[in-house]
Formats: sequence, C-alpha cells, structure tokens
Amino acid sequence: MTALHAKTKLAILMYHSIDDSGSVVSVSPHLFRQQMKCLFAMGWQAQRLCDAVEYRRANGQYPDRTVVITFDDGFANLYEHALPTLTELDFVATVFVVTDHIGENNNWASPPPGLGVQRLLSWSQLKELRKAGWEIGAHSRTHPDLRQCDQVALESEIIGSAKDVEDYFGEPVRSFAYPYGYHSLTASEITVCTFQAACTTLLRRTCNEPAHLLPRVDAYYVRTLDDMRSLVTGKWDYYLTWRRWARHVRAGLSSS
Ligand SMILES: [Zn+2]
Repeated sequence: MTALHAKTKLAILMYHSIDDSGSVVSVSPHLFRQQMKCLFAMGWQAQRLCDAVEYRRANGQYPDRTVVITFDDGFANLYEHALPTLTELDFVATVFVVTDHIGENNNWASPPPGLGVQRLLSWSQLKELRKAGWEIGAHSRTHPDLRQCDQVALESEIIGSAKDVEDYFGEPVRSFAYPYGYHSLTASEITVCTFQAACTTLLRRTCNEPAHLLPRVDAYYVRTLDDMRSLVTGKWDYYLTWRRWARHVRAGLSSS
C-alpha cells in the first residue's frame, strides 16, 4: 500500500425515495437509471457498505473506482425503480430499514413536502433484495432523533432494530444509518458495539473517518450526470466543502 493509495476516497451516496414527486428526498426513476448507467459506463462498480468497510479494514484503504449506494427508510418504490436497474448493471446496494414500519409506511413524522405518506418495503420484498445481493442494514425501530433518547430507548432503537432484521434473515446485520443523521456519544458507542459501520449525513466523500461515523453524499445535490462524474472523481470535493459550510450556517451553527 502506498501513501497515495491510502488517500483513496469513497463516495457513499444517500438516496431515499425513487419517484417523480420532485420532493427533496426523491430522485426520479429516469435520473436514477441514468446516474447508474453513467457510473457503469465509467467502469465503476457499486459495492455494499459492509463490503467496502471490510475492504478498508483488510487493506487500509477503500477500493478504487467504487461507489456505495445507500437507501434510507426502505421505500417500496425501490423494488420497482432501483432493483431492476441495479441488477441489470450488476450493482448492489445497502438499504437501511425502520423495523417497526416494515411493510407499512413512513408516518413516523410529517412526510417531506411534495412526497406524502409512502409505502415501505415489506419483509418479502426485502428478502428479494437480499437474494439479489443487497445488504439489509438497520435504521432504528421508529426513526427517532437519537439525541433525544435515553439509554433504554437507544438500546431498543439501535440494538433492537438489528435484532429484528437478524431474526428474519438469520444473519448478522453489519451496518446502521442514524435517523436524520443525528447521533449522540452514547448512540455512537452503542453502534460501535453492534455494527461494523454506521452512517451519518455529513456531506463529504469518506477516507479516514471512523467506521461508525461515515459521511455520505445526499443524492439531492447530484442533479446531473456531470455532477455524478465530478463527485466520484473528486472534482467536487471543494464544492461539497462549500455546501457543507452553507448547510451549517443555515442550521444556525447548531448541528452536525
Ligand atoms: Zn431516515
């Protein structure tokens, strides 16, 4: 391993819903397909998060020419609009599910404007995704702000959601995504003991961050194929720094 290789950066993309609503958490099926085909045409591969993290653990760096595609919340439209495209390109992904809501809907909070209440993947659909090589990760049981949870609630939301998925699939759950990207010291300590990796929503490609505080790039910002090419090749790193700063200012310097 050379010093240059040790600097390999990885874009972990964060998607939510694949639909035509135009909401802030939606990417249209057409754009999603074009983005994936663009990556494929560039000769890049899409790995599951657990595999990329395991690769880094074994090799001291992330794999080259690789992206990780993650989906938060487990919207049912992934089954129709993401699975066929990814399968066609021999890509796999990681989906983070809210275990008390599997097969139901995203009514844990007011839905994003323009999206409305949406159906979520069922256990049997998740089984199909797993069969296609996807990773099923946990995203809590009820999608709370973990910063507001006491120890008992944190253990139920974090360890409990892992157990729910493990009980169904009969295999360890290796990855977690913090709801809203929010975490506390205690929450991250519990994820360290429960998972190999956990994702935040800090906007940057990842390189040397701890495996339990991995930044991701929200697909909201990736609106064109040029955006995607710039993101994965690193030309966007300064832009992401600026967006991160702008988001921080908007949040009143109080979060992230
Ligand atoms: Zn979520």
